[in-house]
Amino acid sequence: MTSQRSIDDLRAEIDQINRELLTLMSKRGEVVALIGHAKTQEGRPNHYDPAREEQQLRELEALNPGPFPASTIKTIFKEIFKASLALEESNDKKQLLVSRKVKREDTVLDIDGVRIGGNEPPIIIAGPCSIESEEQMEQTAAFLQGKGVKILRGGAYKPRTSPYGFQGMGVDGLILGSSVAREHGQLFITEVMDTRDVEVVAEYADILQIGARNMHNFALLREVGRARRPVLLKRGLSATIEEWLYAAEYILSEGNNEVILCERGIRTYEKWTRNTLDLSAVALAKQETHLPVIVDVTHAAGRRDLLIPLAKAALAVGADGIHIEVHPSPATALSDNEQQLDFAGYEQFHAALSSMMRVATPA
Ligand code: PEP
Ligand code: MN
Repeated sequence: MTSQRSIDDLRAEIDQINRELLTLMSKRGEVVALIGHAKTQEGRPNHYDPAREEQQLRELEALNPGPFPASTIKTIFKEIFKASLALEESNDKKQLLVSRKVKREDTVLDIDGVRIGGNEPPIIIAGPCSIESEEQMEQTAAFLQGKGVKILRGGAYKPRTSPYGFQGMGVDGLILGSSVAREHGQLFITEVMDTRDVEVVAEYADILQIGARNMHNFALLREVGRARRPVLLKRGLSATIEEWLYAAEYILSEGNNEVILCERGIRTYEKWTRNTLDLSAVALAKQETHLPVIVDVTHAAGRRDLLIPLAKAALAVGADGIHIEVHPSPATALSDNEQQLDFAGYEQFHAALSSMMRVATPA
């Protein structure tokens, strides 16, 4: 009479087999990683090899001693192949510095006491599209200071669709913008368009702006990556979210971790707005990266009547701030007349948003 083995005894044997399977799986994974590495070395980025999989399955089917049917063996091994492929490919993909996988906690910028990102209250970046005159900058900065705005914008180098449009005041604009901002206790942000100008712009600006049209200018991204100034990186007009994040990666890869992402609308078939504000990009950028993300409502909408609802929506999806253009007299502005707010318009914007922004109006 054969003595029947107890369930506990059989389970102990199963546990032991599991451990052996796990050891074999790990061993297999290590060999797979070596193959992936060799393929990459040989310049063969495509790791998927259906013919090789088919060959392995045929051999396993032929060798299968049972009790599992061939279809079950096939299903199990197909899962193993899938996991192995993921392993081979993951070794190819470098973890991005912008990714939350590399840095879990939010990056919080502290630019001379102005904090952006993380759990900080959302910030406002405001000012005219272009720097045009001392009077224009002085009036705007004084007005915005009264509204608690800590970051003054103004373009000294303007990316214009037409080469005959106003191109900006250049270095004179930089000097004007930075001195007016300083007088009003504000930081100065301005766009840099050319690698040759990074040094001089960084001398005057507290934050360097990379405009939408230059998001793919890799030489410029590398250059601002080497500058000792925070960078606001606009999303390109037709850039995917991935391309935008890779553009940020260029800056971080040069050692500059102080990057603010800025969604400013993308070009679509829609004509009633200048661009289409992509709020899912804001939510995704917040989720996938640790960087602060702000929303430029002015260039997204291209029209004044949408600025308040779009800014509210941006904050609702988690934006760390709003970028908006304000001009003492938009009708006579040298660029973007259609969309800049005048002071009365900004009063309304401020009143509608201040509870969400928690911007204190100085006494
Ligand atoms: C700007 O902010 O001045 C500007 C030109 O915006 P964008 O690059 O988003 O078009
Ligand atoms: Mn503008």
